[in-house]
Amino acid sequence: MAKKQFKAESKRLLDLMINSIYTHKEIFLRELISNASDAVDKLAYKALTDDKVGIKRKDFQITLETDRDGRTITITDNGIGMTREELEKNLGTIARSGSFQFKQEMDKAELTGKNAKAVDIIGQFGVGFYSAFMVADTVTVRSRAYGSDEAWEWKSDGADGYTVEPCGKDTVGTQVILHLKPDTDEEHYSEYLEPHRLQELVKKYSDYVHTPIRMEMTHTHMKPRPEDAGEDYKPEYETHTQVETLNSMVPLWQRAKSKVKKEEYDQFYREKFGDWEEPLATIHISAEGQMEYKALLFVPAHAPYDYYSKDYEKGLQLYSSGVLIMDKCPEVVPDHFSFVKGVVDSQDLPLNISRETLQHTRALHIMENNVEKKVKAELLKLQKEDGEKYLQFWKSFGRQLKYGTVNGYGAKKEVLQDLLMFRSSNGEELTTLAEYVERMKEGQESIFYLCAESVEMAKALPQAERVLDKGYEILYFTDEVDEFVAQTLMRYADKPFKSAADADALPETEEEKEAAEKKAEANRPVLDFVKETLGDKVSDVRLSKVLKSGAVCMTTDGPMSLEMEKYFQKLGEDGMGAMKAQRVLELNADSPVYAALCQAVGQAPEKAKKYAQLLYDQALIIAGLPVEDTARYTELVCSLMV
Ligand code: ADP
Repeated sequence: MAKKQFKAESKRLLDLMINSIYTHKEIFLRELISNASDAVDKLAYKALTDDKVGIKRKDFQITLETDRDGRTITITDNGIGMTREELEKNLGTIARSGSFQFKQEMDKAELTGKNAKAVDIIGQFGVGFYSAFMVADTVTVRSRAYGSDEAWEWKSDGADGYTVEPCGKDTVGTQVILHLKPDTDEEHYSEYLEPHRLQELVKKYSDYVHTPIRMEMTHTHMKPRPEDAGEDYKPEYETHTQVETLNSMVPLWQRAKSKVKKEEYDQFYREKFGDWEEPLATIHISAEGQMEYKALLFVPAHAPYDYYSKDYEKGLQLYSSGVLIMDKCPEVVPDHFSFVKGVVDSQDLPLNISRETLQHTRALHIMENNVEKKVKAELLKLQKEDGEKYLQFWKSFGRQLKYGTVNGYGAKKEVLQDLLMFRSSNGEELTTLAEYVERMKEGQESIFYLCAESVEMAKALPQAERVLDKGYEILYFTDEVDEFVAQTLMRYADKPFKSAADADALPETEEEKEAAEKKAEANRPVLDFVKETLGDKVSDVRLSKVLKSGAVCMTTDGPMSLEMEKYFQKLGEDGMGAMKAQRVLELNADSPVYAALCQAVGQAPEKAKKYAQLLYDQALIIAGLPVEDTARYTELVCSLMV
């Protein structure tokens, strides 16, 4: 029979698996049990709405068997089973997101030469079915899918691909048979043939699996000494063989918080959600009152690779009295906290819940509100008590919180504003708005910000100078969404947000205002000359109130800023691309450059036109905007040098 080859990706993963270091090998059992339990869940779920399934929840089980002479371990479940196609698709490729993520991490680790670390990932990651090859030289999977009357046998020795052929199997479900590798000096695979060793592994890794895991166990006892036993009595032994349930099945979230160790939470999280890193925060909720439920929530340490894409699906696993009824229920996590992973379990939820009824279930809304409250509180705690962790959180999910602030016209701004962080002129570290306000100077009325593409560019903006010289701190908005955040919040702690680039950023006295107007009038001819030269490129040319030593800068009139213009340009397709800010060229009348301009306007108008054009281009560059015609720009500079 011709062997089929594994897909290339799978082959690599397989190699890693087969050659992984010994201490991690024992997780194969956890992986296979978890697959079996998932398969049981799937059929149990079907049984909720389909009487034909005919198996009661209590009759679902996973059994383990060992055969010392044959060197095999058999893991059997009466779950949903696999068709021939599913066998090939599921066990012949690595399409699963879990393995994909795993492989990405491996590649990353390999690229950075951290091979030792790469191998270490295996032990923690949900690597699935392939892990069987860490201990077995041949793996046989016999399966009959629910609703089908044929069964198929998939067989592989790892390296050379696999075969699939028909087989006999009376019951629906799957059987995985591992033929163990021969023992070597370092690796003693035979230990997995000991029922007590398997029991230990089930306790260690799969205790909360809510399908019973059963195995025939043999115990040897010493027979009680008979009353009339004489001097020369030799103790006699007897053995009992009985089927035992190895796992306690109490899900972690049903246990008392005080009884669960951090390692247990972390392990649960890693296994259930296929992450190799422990979570940044764990929240265990036991709610009573309005509604009774348990929840176990996790804040991951890093964003999944598809987090900021349309493919990402938020949601928590929904259980009704320990029975999984939905894998990702989006209704119980608010969008701004869509990174939260976890489970909720309530006996108040109907088992035969459907998508439609779910959306209207008040119970879900209650849980969502509570999840929001708890996650916020936990994040604030992290921010206060473990700045480093919070920073890590912020790097991964900060942007989501900013979007959350802006969404729905700021409906959630009260929830989110204290979680926001920004860079500022105060130093290298991120600051919260509360900390900024705390540092505000006597007489400072606004929270100042400047928009730019990077902190370095923001620092270099000539508009910053006069505000900084007053000793006022400026928030640097480097994310496109930042300015929208400020506009949505409008105020924080009663202080308005104000762009440091606005002419009225700093308060002016009446005399100052008058003097400025006079000065502008006196300079009218020069300003008009520049405006005329530039035409429609700018809506106005004026003397700057915001420049101190810089010669020129670009600001805007009207509600749209330059940063917003850039943002809308990126959105392009949505039809907003055409929106342009009203650009204003601001000149510093006190700069030597301006004096040169004035002189040229009076004596050499052709040269003055070049100056006007050059100043405009410079303002663009400083603002991080593209110069419209770079060839013309270089010509211009050269012609002025000669
Ligand atoms: P994962 O479980 O992370 O999806 P695996 O490599 O362990 O990845 O398994 C791949 C797929 O094979 C599973 O998603 C499931 O569809 C199927 N599968 C594995 N074991 C079983 C089983 N015992 N019963 C039914 N389907 C199974």
